[in-house]
Amino acid sequence: MTTYDYDLFVIGAGSGGVRAARIAAGYGAKVAVAEEYRVGGTCVIRGCVPKKLFVYASRFAEEFEDAAAFGWTVPETGFDWPTLIANKDREIARLEGIYRSNLERAGVEIINTRAAVRGPNAVHLVGEARDVTARYILIATGGHPNYDRKLPGIEHVISSNEAFHLETLPERIVVAGGGYIGVEFAGIFNGLGVDTSLIYRGEEILRGFDDDLRTSLHAEMVKRGIDVICGDTFTEIEKTETGLIGHTKQGRKLDAGQIMFAIGRTPNVEGLGLAEAGVEQGWNGQVVVDDYGKSSVDSIYAVGDVTDRVQLTPVAIREGHAFAETIFNANPTPVDHEAIATAVFSTPELGTVGLTEAEARERCRAVDIYKASFRPMKLTLTERDEKMLIKLVVDGESGVVLGCHLMGPDSGELIQVLGILVKMGATKAQFDATVAVHPSAAEELVTMREPTTRWAAEAAE
Ligand code: NDP
Repeated sequence: MTTYDYDLFVIGAGSGGVRAARIAAGYGAKVAVAEEYRVGGTCVIRGCVPKKLFVYASRFAEEFEDAAAFGWTVPETGFDWPTLIANKDREIARLEGIYRSNLERAGVEIINTRAAVRGPNAVHLVGEARDVTARYILIATGGHPNYDRKLPGIEHVISSNEAFHLETLPERIVVAGGGYIGVEFAGIFNGLGVDTSLIYRGEEILRGFDDDLRTSLHAEMVKRGIDVICGDTFTEIEKTETGLIGHTKQGRKLDAGQIMFAIGRTPNVEGLGLAEAGVEQGWNGQVVVDDYGKSSVDSIYAVGDVTDRVQLTPVAIREGHAFAETIFNANPTPVDHEAIATAVFSTPELGTVGLTEAEARERCRAVDIYKASFRPMKLTLTERDEKMLIKLVVDGESGVVLGCHLMGPDSGELIQVLGILVKMGATKAQFDATVAVHPSAAEELVTMREPTTRWAAEAAE
């Protein structure tokens, strides 16, 4: 029998790789993980975690304002960016330490170097100039921000990576991209007092989300003073003595201290030796895998953003876990990518799971929509003009709730629970059989008696 240095060699210590390594080691496998940067990956080091801390920071301004309506005297407030950065960095270092010690406690060897595939069972450790062998190799290298490389002056812009380490907060910023990162960072900068524009090439931000969420978030962002520009895109970035000017297709000249691109992410596959090892890749370089994470080479698997399926941390974790379960516990575990609940930490934030209204109309013969738009109770004593949106998409024939779409405070928390119900196939009648929690925003979920709209395929024909 062939012997290998390791049962499993993981390339990349992000969410997916770390989970796979720990679970595999727990099943008795000899595991090593190579990481060229910091343990924790995009989510911990320069993604979800620091972003959420920034989101918290950005929302205090409104809290201070609203507090006055509840009788509080709020002294003059001020914001210090370097304090936020330093505290955020300390927290990220703490989390990285936890990730490292969890791996070590599980018996996983951490090798701090870049690694590349050298064959079906061989890995080259670049920094150590040596090769090791493994029965299985797991590619968990994640992704990196896209730039429009052909755009003149693109070298002057930043991505979310740099936004986490800016030395000073600019007075004005333009964010390019109308996806998750674009709307989240537009909200962060706006909340921190930066004059913010968002430029998006399409008709409406957040393509793929329910249309009511898209238009409602757009409106709320504008109310907060964000200049949301749709249907336009940069043609050139010009550097001036005082900052940057973004020239656009529609003839705009957007001046700013910083321009941040958030136009999607590309799998990290460069120099990994995948083609040489015979690993099939997709149009964007992504590793093509089956339901179990297996690539076109039997001993090479991949999980997380490098597979470019659903670019979300919990998905990578689930995929990493399922891989380890499949291979090291003889328990074949495919990952179900349907109806994944997700939150967008814009301000106000969004929560969404399941089918949009448009998708439901394509798949069902009848669709009932239940929609409520109201002022969150906390704002009733304030001057703040903000609406919360709750929308349920229901199969008009079976009554099954196919999708839930929320905008407003705590939507990210609520959608986790709604995700369970959608996954279970709960019906609107079962929602209604649940007694409301009062007073809360969530009670609308179980008190919307009549559909706001009823759509039927025959009537539409
Ligand atoms: P997204 O795919 O969400 O959005 C990319 C945006 O950039 C879209 O508006 C897209 O437009 C636009 N775009 C793409 N290419 C170009 C181009 N060449 N020129 C101009 N605009 C362009 O990517 P993000 O970068 O925002 O985020 C990356 C991934 O990270 C997301 O897919 C998400 O899964 C994950 N993420 C998740 C978060 C969460 O769970 N809260 C938070 C942050 C990131 P169009 O729609 O027209 O294609």
